[in-house]
Order: sequence, then structure tokens, then C-alpha cells
Amino acid sequence: MASSQDNPKGKAGKKVRVAMRRNRGKPGRISDWTRRTRESDGYDLENSRSEQVTGKGDVSRRRTVTLKDSDESAEAGLTRGTVIAMRGLYAEVDDGQCIRLCTVRRMLRTRLIKERHPVTVGDHVQFKAESDHQKTGSEEGAIESVDPRRGQLVRRVGRRIQTIVANVDQAIIVSSADEPPPRPNLIDRYGVAALAGGITPVICMNKIDLDRAGQARRLLDRYAELGWAVVRTSVPSGEGIDELRGILRGRASVIAGQSGVGKSSLLNSVQPGLDLRIGETIKETGKGRHTTTTASLIRLEVGGYVVDTPGVRSFDMAVVPRHELEAHFVEFLPHIPHCKFPDCSHTHEAGCAVKRALEEGRIHPQRYESYVRLYEERPDDRG
Ligand code: GDP
Ligand code: ZN
Repeated sequence: MASSQDNPKGKAGKKVRVAMRRNRGKPGRISDWTRRTRESDGYDLENSRSEQVTGKGDVSRRRTVTLKDSDESAEAGLTRGTVIAMRGLYAEVDDGQCIRLCTVRRMLRTRLIKERHPVTVGDHVQFKAESDHQKTGSEEGAIESVDPRRGQLVRRVGRRIQTIVANVDQAIIVSSADEPPPRPNLIDRYGVAALAGGITPVICMNKIDLDRAGQARRLLDRYAELGWAVVRTSVPSGEGIDELRGILRGRASVIAGQSGVGKSSLLNSVQPGLDLRIGETIKETGKGRHTTTTASLIRLEVGGYVVDTPGVRSFDMAVVPRHELEAHFVEFLPHIPHCKFPDCSHTHEAGCAVKRALEEGRIHPQRYESYVRLYEERPDDRG
């Protein structure tokens, strides 16, 4: 990574560059993360890592990015950071070195977002640090601007859609080979919710040590064939833990999966002592506990964050309309144009090319079943 000493003179905008460097101080891990996630839509870990380490390329790249998106703000002494929690009218912003309690008041002047909450957990922001408070442990500042959001975790509250966390890169959908056995339907449900929210799904098949008949492996292979990212893990044997850590590194991830599959154990293997409230929905009281809307980001030692959300129910299907479901079943796509009716739902219509593909064995029955289930539980939204 480029050190802050190699501060080449010449070329345009050197003042800006120096200012940014000073603000960022040591290796701006969060800035790197922000930049990386913005630049790579795909799932190319290797590439994003090599971007980070190439000496010269990195310097010029960083300079470009810096100038492009915060030319004037750099001169105004703004720092980049990520909102990791909301505390009433304040946001906790992590700039890679420390966490500051920032007011959002000033930000409202400079930017309008059509949302009830102009700033939310996960937002990438620029803030002005208040140097008066530097003696205290928690320094303060004022958020001046918020980057456009991508990959949100939303939920429906009455008629309103609420963003729980912004800029989530990926959903780690944890399943287990056994105890409990995998539930393909649940994998699809989380997967579709993630895809619909602009979040990359990653299936983590845990307890692979219990996969004696190889069933879980075959299930995982099926998803890999569909182009999903997958990883096999075992907490007792340590298999796949490094790989999982690599997947989490430098990204913001939400962890989903039913109770008992090993989510806490996995996260503890990745980073001992990580204490998450991943929380399950139904287990406690018969009807399921009331989920709060607060989420926070927990920073990983390897870089990146895990979303600490007190209920996976918040990560639900609430906002995926019926007619959009098919778009998230990637293997349906080549067949859909051949359905007899242009508005075919692929559930009961004659001349449905998706059903034909199912009969011909080109679509897996489990996937089709997931689709129909999800379709039928959606309200009819075509009006
Ligand atoms: P969570 O509810 O998803 O957070 O699951 P936990 O992390 O609490 O794990 C549930 C149980 O599965 C615990 O008894 C763990 O010891 C066990 N477990 C977790 N990972 C593995 C694994 O890879 N293999 C086996 N055999 N057991 C595991
Ligand atoms: Zn059809």
C-alpha cells in the first residue's frame, strides 16, 4: 500500500492530494474499502486485492479517485468515513482510525435524500472533524455529504420502506450440511432478497464435516453452476475458514441463515471474540420477538464490516414484487422469452417455456418449487 511519505510533487492538484493524505493519515483502510466496493461490482476478490497492493498504480488510482469525488471538499478539510451506528440525532462515523460522533445537521443543507432518514448505518459520508474534541476519546464532527447508496437492506414498516443498512456488499447465507439439514427453499428466499436489494449472495455451507453422503456438496455445486459464490466450511476442522475470512475482508456483509447452522461459531473462528447479536427470529417466544430497527456495523480485524442486526427477519422478502421474482432466477431467463404469454407467471399457463425447461430437466425442480412458493406468497402487484 502506498505510504503517506511517498508524496510526489508535481502534476495537478498536489495541494488537494496532500490534504487528503493528512486527513486520512495511516493506510486508509476504510477509504480503500469504499473505493474498492465502488469500483468492483463483481465478486472478484483477487482483483480487488491486487489493486490494493500494486505500488504505483495504487497511488495514481487513489489520486484520481480523490480528486474526482471530493476536490472541493478536500480543501474544505473533509474526511471520509462510514456510518457504523446511529445514536439518536448523531451518527457514529468510523474513518479508519477512530470513531467520531457526528451531527447530521449540516449535511441537510448540502444534500437532500428523499428518505426519512437522510443518514443511515452503512452510509459513506464526508465529515468535518471538530478538532476541539481531539483530546477526548470519542472525537466529534459534522457530516457534510452522503454518497449515493447501493446494496441496501430494507424492510417494510407499514406502508413505508425503511433502509436498515446501506451499502451492504454481500449476504453470507449460511446453511449446514446436517443438524439442521440444508433447506434449499430458504437459500433461495435469502438469495432472492439479496439479489433484489443489489446485494451479492454467497452461500456458506457449514458443518461440511457432517456431509458424509456428499449431499450438501452437490447442492452447493448446483448453486455454483448458477454462478453464485459458494464456500464450504467446518468449524471443528477449520476447513474453509481462511476462505471465508477472505470473502469477508474489505466488504460489508450481512449474515443470514436459520438457527443452529453455525453462524456465531463461524464468525468466532474468523475473529475470536466477535460477539454478534445475529439473533434469530422465531426461536424465543412462540410468535417471534419484536425486531428492532437498529443495526450496526462491526469492524473486522481483516478489514470490512459485519452487519449486526438483531433479527434476520429484517432481511426479508417484503419488497420484492411478484413480477420481479423471475428476474432473480437466473436459469429461467433464457426460457422466459419463449413463453406463449408475455405476462406468463410460469405457474399455471399453457405454453410456458419455463415449465417445459423444467420437464426437460434443464431447470432443477427444487429451484422451480422455490419460485412457485415465493410467487404464491407475494401479493398480486400488477393491479
Ligand atoms: P447459530 O445459531 O447459527 O449461530 O449456530 P451456532 O454457532 O450457535 O452453532 C450451533 C451448533 O452447531 C453448536 O453446537 C456448534 O458447536 C455447532 N457447529 C457449528 N459449526 C459447526 C461445524 O462446522 N461442524 C459441526 N459438526 N458442528 C458445528
Ligand atoms: Zn412461463
